[in-house]
Amino acid sequence: MKVLIADDSAIYRTTLSRALQRWGYEVLIAQNGAEAWEMLAEPGAPALAVLDWVMPHMTGPEVCRRVRETLREPYTYILLLTGKNTKDEIVEGLEAGADDYVVKPFDEHELQVRLRAGKRIVDLQLDLLRARDELRERANKDLLTMLPNRPAIASALEQELSRCHRDRRTVGVILLDIDHFKKINDTFGHFAGDAVLRETAARLRGNMRPYDQIGRYGGEEFLVVLPNCDLEQAAMQAERMRYKLQGSTILVDGAELRVSASFGVTVSDGSERSPDIFVRVADEALYRAKADGRNCISTLTLEQSSQASIA
Ligand code: GH3
Ligand code: MG
Ligand code: MG
Repeated sequence: MKVLIADDSAIYRTTLSRALQRWGYEVLIAQNGAEAWEMLAEPGAPALAVLDWVMPHMTGPEVCRRVRETLREPYTYILLLTGKNTKDEIVEGLEAGADDYVVKPFDEHELQVRLRAGKRIVDLQLDLLRARDELRERANKDLLTMLPNRPAIASALEQELSRCHRDRRTVGVILLDIDHFKKINDTFGHFAGDAVLRETAARLRGNMRPYDQIGRYGGEEFLVVLPNCDLEQAAMQAERMRYKLQGSTILVDGAELRVSASFGVTVSDGSERSPDIFVRVADEALYRAKADGRNCISTLTLEQSSQASIA
């Protein structure tokens, strides 16, 4: 684990860094408070810091205060090393945001065990952060296809709409739905249906630009978000996906299944609107593609759609 030590005394810096290295820490050194603050504010900064109290530019407690005001996570555990040992001074240091203190001249063993206590807290917090990030990622993922799930792709659309609106660009929106999917379930069973969904998701994802996004919107429905696309470009993308999907069979339990999908395509109109409206227009276009015989695409703008009167 990385530890930052900050001391304006060269002797203390050497003694401290030797001891810490002996205990297995990776040591980073600052010669004053301002330098310590800069190093703690950097990405990937040490989560453990041993700070001298009296230092030029910024004192240890000032660094503590700044860290607590600005940095939230991962937590920085701060141990103040101080020649001050009256109760008032110690309270002042803890009040500034220090987690612990050791009085100079320090007892090596005491410093070692206090650092170990700090490391335990840092490790625990890192574990919690990791678990939280994993849960967050899982909450955004559809576990069958491993694509973003409905809330996640809807929020991606919302973000792209506001970003593109700022830059005066439009966003292409595609809603697609596998044709006669129920028949696959009914004929080959639900597991075969699941396998088809997984493979379809992978094929669709594989036929997209890296900055486009796709998510599972419903059972066998997928939503595609295409930043900086006009209607024509979005329609071309939908056509590419349609063509690729129906072009080769999917092997499930020894059976070769040919899968096609119908595509509803629309584009944002540059106005500040909720994402729902464009999904609804894409859905109306999708409905038309189904009515036109499936395995095809249909385009519709907001003005052409029945949503125009509501919007
Ligand atoms: P259309 O061409 O009109 O879209 O017909 P369809 O059969 O694809 O549409 P319909 O809405 O009638 O049926 C969709 C089916 O998808 C019904 C539902 O049981 C099935 N389904 C939804 N989610 C899953 C899933 O996660 N796994 C499997 N195997 N089937 C699913
Ligand atoms: Mg369907
Ligand atoms: Mg459907």
